[in-house]
Amino acid sequence: MKEYAIGIDLGGTKILTALVDRQGRIYERILLSTPIEQGAEYIMDIMAESVEELQHRYCCSPGQIKGVGVACPGPLDYVHGVVYGSPNLQWDDVHICAGMQSRLDFPVYIDKDTNMAAQGELSFGQAGDCKNFVYITVSTGIGGSLVLNGEVFHGYFGGAGEIGHMVADPHGPLCRCGQRGCLEAMASGTAIARKAQALIVQGRGQGIAVCAKGKITAREVGMAARQGDIEAADILDDTLEVLASSLSSLIHLLHPQRIILGGGVALGLADLWLPALQERVYQQVFPMHRRGLCIEMTGLGNDIGVLGAAAYVFEQLCSGGMYR
Ligand SMILES: [Zn+2]
Repeated sequence: MKEYAIGIDLGGTKILTALVDRQGRIYERILLSTPIEQGAEYIMDIMAESVEELQHRYCCSPGQIKGVGVACPGPLDYVHGVVYGSPNLQWDDVHICAGMQSRLDFPVYIDKDTNMAAQGELSFGQAGDCKNFVYITVSTGIGGSLVLNGEVFHGYFGGAGEIGHMVADPHGPLCRCGQRGCLEAMASGTAIARKAQALIVQGRGQGIAVCAKGKITAREVGMAARQGDIEAADILDDTLEVLASSLSSLIHLLHPQRIILGGGVALGLADLWLPALQERVYQQVFPMHRRGLCIEMTGLGNDIGVLGAAAYVFEQLCSGGMYR
């Protein structure tokens, strides 16, 4: 009997639920908008309905589905399955693991979205037998996960890997966490858009404004840079400089074999960012740390969250992990 897991990638704007097999093939998926304004109980209701819908669509017997993994935005108390003060979901003190478990007859497993993504890389990605890597997602925010000696590193009770809130400049722009100059405030998609908007307010950045035709995001800045716009290229170069410095610090701290980048902004700007990022980081790190170091984009694309959440279920089965 073929075995499946259901992965849920719960984001601030979208919820993707997918039926996945042990080889990382996706059979069915449901994509919904996240109705933030309806609150946590309602969001857990619709996630549970998506799980049941997938089970019925693919005519799975209950025994074929080995569990449900939920990739959840942080901060998350991984031990107790509780979301605390999540800016993306506007949730605080939400017991998501217990809430989902009470709605479903399958074992439910929860971890932070970036940790699930790293598990996806470990199980289904090009990381393969690589035991030490850092996964970084750059989208509207910046997040990360550390894989050390073949396992996702959670820290004391789940807060490790908040790479986006490492301070890159103590006098830098205000971050949504309340601190100044976090990596996220200086190199995320939101930061790129903010820099472009500031230029336009000053009457500059016309190349970007032409591409944008309205709302400016990192995507439009990338489009302008590809068309040879110097101001757009400068914005991307500034963000890259900060990102490269932070990555170099991480590499000196952890000596990983790989740095794997994901997230909508990083994937969308890969052609512009990756070669320059590799060059800068290779220049900044010690020769020993540079040897064999690989900086690359994830091959799992935007499915990395659901694949990782499903991989986590299979991983728990293999390791006899706790049923939470
Ligand atoms: Zn911050």
